[in-house]
Amino acid sequence: MIGIVSHAGDLHTQAVAGHLDRRGAGHRLLDTSRVPTAAALTSRQRPDGTWTGTWSDADGDLDLADVRAVWWRRPQPFVLHDEVTRPHDRGFAHGECAAMVAGLWSCMDARWVNDPDRDEAASRKMWQLQLAARAGLRVPRTCMTNDPDEARAFVAAEPDGVVYKSFSATPRTWRETRRVRAQDVGTIDAVRFAPVIFQELVPGGRDVRATVVDGRVFAAEIRAGESAYELDFRIDTTHAPITEHRLPPPVEERLVALVRRLGLRYGAADFRVGPDGEHVFLEVNPAGQWLFVELATGQPISAALADLLVRLDAD
Ligand code: ADP
Ligand code: MG
Ligand code: MG
Repeated sequence: MIGIVSHAGDLHTQAVAGHLDRRGAGHRLLDTSRVPTAAALTSRQRPDGTWTGTWSDADGDLDLADVRAVWWRRPQPFVLHDEVTRPHDRGFAHGECAAMVAGLWSCMDARWVNDPDRDEAASRKMWQLQLAARAGLRVPRTCMTNDPDEARAFVAAEPDGVVYKSFSATPRTWRETRRVRAQDVGTIDAVRFAPVIFQELVPGGRDVRATVVDGRVFAAEIRAGESAYELDFRIDTTHAPITEHRLPPPVEERLVALVRRLGLRYGAADFRVGPDGEHVFLEVNPAGQWLFVELATGQPISAALADLLVRLDAD
């Protein structure tokens, strides 16, 4: 049995589930937003000392021991009962749900895409950049700091421009990458409120998204162009042509090695191609989106993920 930790409205989940259906592979959605209102979780110790875990919702009872492969598309926020109103109680209930759900995975003997603990650790851009450089990928000169003097010194020392961006990218807190303009230098003091990532600007507006599934790489170039301030391709994707792209073989090999070193079976990496044609590594998203690439280029990424899950389930 294949488990998918996600929610029913997720388009990536629907795409992969469709491929699993066509392969006749049994799968079950573990929708954490049903916890605690619409899903009952129980874990108990049996008389022989082993532990059971059960997930029950409108789709039926699931013995978690039957789940052999899990796609950790990422849990959805818990939806608490309306009777729980005080912020302190809601925070407590939320934390308890999270702790139980995180612990439930110990009731499975499953292979993960990706392991939740690795997913979290692998999301850290500081670690990614260090490992990427060690793997032989080119990375931009970078300074992460909440010290305004350090930030100003870094910006002043970069002749061709600097971008700034955030560490975290959860949907609620996402901030796009922007260029530090001359008029922004006066606001750099604001880094004392929260650390910021400053990075050498890789100019040219050529973005590459390279999705790695179990060692296979599906790369695409996104030409969004860029203004003097906005350069993040997600700010306006309406006119950005997306075309299949071949990473140079050494870059591809190093990326596959990096994703493996991060402990991931799947990851979506962002590169920028500099004016010299060199691929500069920006980041790996352990649960990154790929449908926009699949739809534009026809690359069979959802099918590759389904195949991986089927293989892990059978092992
Ligand atoms: P995240 O997607 O997690 O916010 P990224 O590092 O992928 O962070 O940055 C988002 C986008 O901003 C990139 O895809 C790219 O278009 C642009 N960008 C990020 N870093 C740079 C850089 N150093 N030089 C030029 N553009 C950049
Ligand atoms: Mg990105
Ligand atoms: Mg990201």
